Amino acid sequence: MIGSVWIMIFAYLAGCSGVTDNKPVAGEQVTGKQVTVDTFARKPFVYDSTKKYIYLTFDDGPQHGTTTCYEICKADSIKATFFMVGLHTAKKTDGKKIVAMIRAGYPEILLANHSYTHANDKYVFFYHHPEMAAQDFFEAQDFLHVPYKIVRLPGNSAWMGDTVIKASNLVRPVVRILDSAGYNAIGWDVEWHFQKKTARPVQSPQKLAEQVDTSFARNHTHTPNHLVILTHDRMFQRPEDAAALDSFIHILKQNPDYILETVDHYPGLKKLK
Ligand SMILES: [Zn+2]
Repeated sequence: MIGSVWIMIFAYLAGCSGVTDNKPVAGEQVTGKQVTVDTFARKPFVYDSTKKYIYLTFDDGPQHGTTTCYEICKADSIKATFFMVGLHTAKKTDGKKIVAMIRAGYPEILLANHSYTHANDKYVFFYHHPEMAAQDFFEAQDFLHVPYKIVRLPGNSAWMGDTVIKASNLVRPVVRILDSAGYNAIGWDVEWHFQKKTARPVQSPQKLAEQVDTSFARNHTHTPNHLVILTHDRMFQRPEDAAALDSFIHILKQNPDYILETVDHYPGLKKLK
């Protein structure tokens, strides 16, 4: 099994003592006295209350720019999440290869579900047909082989975890279906906007970093001390824009209070796997 690690049962039990959530129960195969733990099996995760958590997310891949974003995150040793689209994977020549690369990047890089069709960019029609829309996410989950039930809705910032749902009236019906199927939804707190015609970033890295600081300071985040940033892979195709992503990451890393994480560690999610 790719990326699998071997640990002794007693080592696992000792390591988990006192921790009650996120135990690596799924993906295990007992062989004699050893346990094979899948790369995606849950490990104990404890938040540091003195830190602020940032979840950098890239939407709509695989597209031109996805590999660049992945390489920058790897080179900067940060964690990030890629919400990918089934149809983009099917259409792009090397789409499946890129998705496989992102999937294999865990635990630094997380692959997540951004639907199969991206609503064909007809959001109102899509969300007015909630059963069909839910099916679209289920299809993407299987097709992309996404490890956890975490989605981002196309064109709409909705949040859904274990007990909390925050969604507009438009998307609430599909969110409820996804909820009963055990899914979580991650919206966003800060967006790195792009120019519609060129897909180039609007804010400078410095300006975006200021927005992050301000959102934390004013508690303008869905969950206090946790902030989700939305960006799109295609914004970073050009070398100068890729450099902007790199500098933004460097600005965040300079702040010792900030920790970059993948969205499977966002608080309040349903038990994963
Ligand atoms: Zn999108």
